[in-house]
Amino acid sequence: MQDLIEINDSHFIVDLMYAGLKHNMTGRAVYREIGLGNRALVHKDLWTCLQKLIPHLEQTRQKLKIFEAFRPPRAHRLLFAAIPQDGFFIPEAEKSPHCRATAVDVALTNADGTELAYPTLVDAYDETYAKEVQNGNLTGFFEHLKKASLDYQDPSILEAIHNRDDLCRLMQSVGLIPVPRRHEWWHYELPEGRTDKYPVIDW
Ligand SMILES: [Zn+2]
Repeated sequence: MQDLIEINDSHFIVDLMYAGLKHNMTGRAVYREIGLGNRALVHKDLWTCLQKLIPHLEQTRQKLKIFEAFRPPRAHRLLFAAIPQDGFFIPEAEKSPHCRATAVDVALTNADGTELAYPTLVDAYDETYAKEVQNGNLTGFFEHLKKASLDYQDPSILEAIHNRDDLCRLMQSVGLIPVPRRHEWWHYELPEGRTDKYPVIDW
C-alpha cells in the first residue's frame, strides 16, 4: 500500500470512468460502490514516469486527463460481472496491470480541459455501443474498437491520428509502453507492469 501514490497535481485532470456514469461502458459506478471514488492511485514507479511529462505539459499548455489508474481487484470483479464477456475485461483481475497500479488510461487536453480529437473516445466509449454492450451484444462495439488500434489509419481524420501518435511518442518518451496488442490508444503501462515485480494490490 505504501507504494501507491494519489495523483493530485494541477498538470493532471482526474476523471475516472468507473467513478461515474457519464463516460462508462459498464453502466456501473463501481468506484463509488466500493468507496474509492474519483481517486487516481498509481504505483510510485508509474508516478515517477508521469511526473516526467510535466515540462512538456507546461510547454504545450496541455494537461493529461486520467480516465483510469489503479483498479482494486474487487472493482475489477464487479466490472467483469457487469459485462462477463470475453474480450472486454480480462476475467482474471491478476492479469490486468490496472490491478497492479502500473497502468493508466489517458488523453491530452487543452489548458481548459477540452480533450483533443482522437480516433475514438477513451475506452472507445460511445453511448449507443455502451447500451448494446450492457445488453450483452458486443458485435457493434468490437467493430468500433478497431478504430482504437495504434495502427488504425484513416485519411479523413488526420488530426485525430496525429494526436494519437503524438500521445504515443510522449508516453514512450517517459518510459511507458502501450498495451501489448496495441488495440487501445489510451492505455500506457510500466514495461514490467504485468510481472511479479508489481504484485496485484488488494485494496
Ligand atoms: Zn487501461
